[in-house]
Amino acid sequence: MRAAPGVKTSPDFPVPDTMKAWVLGDPGHVTLTDKPVPVPKRAEVLVRIDAVAICATDLEIIWHGPPASIEGGFAFNKNFTPGHEYMGTVVALGPGVDEYRIGQRVTVEIHAGCGQCKRCREGMYTACHNYGLNYGDVDKGHRANGFTTDGGFCEYQVNNINTLVAIPDGMSDEEATLVVTAGTAMYGLTELGGLVAGESVVVTGPGPIGLLGVAVAKALGAHPVILTGTRDNRLKTGLELGADHVVNVRNEDPVEAVRRLVGGKGVDYVLECSGAPNAVNEAIRMVNRGGKVCLAAFPHEQVPVDIAHIVRNNIYLFGIRGEGKSATHRAEAFMSQKRFDATKIHTHTFALEDLPTALKYARERIEDAIKVVVKARGVAARKMAAE
Ligand SMILES: [Zn+2]
Ligand SMILES: [Zn+2]
Repeated sequence: MRAAPGVKTSPDFPVPDTMKAWVLGDPGHVTLTDKPVPVPKRAEVLVRIDAVAICATDLEIIWHGPPASIEGGFAFNKNFTPGHEYMGTVVALGPGVDEYRIGQRVTVEIHAGCGQCKRCREGMYTACHNYGLNYGDVDKGHRANGFTTDGGFCEYQVNNINTLVAIPDGMSDEEATLVVTAGTAMYGLTELGGLVAGESVVVTGPGPIGLLGVAVAKALGAHPVILTGTRDNRLKTGLELGADHVVNVRNEDPVEAVRRLVGGKGVDYVLECSGAPNAVNEAIRMVNRGGKVCLAAFPHEQVPVDIAHIVRNNIYLFGIRGEGKSATHRAEAFMSQKRFDATKIHTHTFALEDLPTALKYARERIEDAIKVVVKARGVAARKMAAE
């Protein structure tokens, strides 16, 4: 890292000038290169990345483009480093930073909004009105590492202090990468959804957000919590994370199953994490009159929705982007108190240099991969062929 006025470092955590970083080329292709280690500015720290989890959204970005936005457009061939679910150690402080100390272990949330738009001022910084405006003469200072600015598939990254969450010594690197996933479920259920203890929840789709959605809903006192999906081993993990009931939609109509379990009126909330074509139409029939449906998956196809049913039944339907209002801090509080064991969704760890193999495992769900983690240190490279 080049020296800069006011930036503090420590001999205990020496910072090199350059680092290994994966960059996105054409769709589906990443290349390992060298980049300068970035320098933290005001209200920023430099994080040495110790572990980074692969998210379904990373796969979207690497193969399709959105929701990443670099210089106002697609992220391909722009020397962009993806990856956003990382944790690590603070190794340099930007000018004036006294909120964190060098050597402190942290995990990160993604969105540092512009801080000046209407939504940022409300704490909804994941819906910042200046998303992606961080370049040239339209620079509003917005950052979303791995989406609009360089992310975590590398050795070091700068983070705004508002995106850091301190973690205890007892939390492993792998578990710490999952705080942000639990934070997304938390944001959907509490800040956006208004869930209170005793309300009933259906989670559709046992991916990482769905499974941790079950865990967070239970930790918040929801009852009952029902998980629907197509794969029995994922549903079994849902039971381990606290689901009261699971429904395999290959064996039973999910709407009928929910009515059988909770009665004909339906549940108070549906957290939709499947992205299945008929998911919204099923969700609005699982939820009771006046109930809420949180949409956390993005399907590729547009689908017809029975809007008349939503209107007649006063159903609230809302999308969720990321994890606003510091939901990650509340998720970390649950996890550090061992209210649920998020590590049940961590299945594989690879060396940073094996990122293409790790992406392949995540994308093709090889060996039933759920959360695949990549580490820059302490994991031997597999040297596996990755096409
Ligand atoms: Zn993610
Ligand atoms: Zn903003």
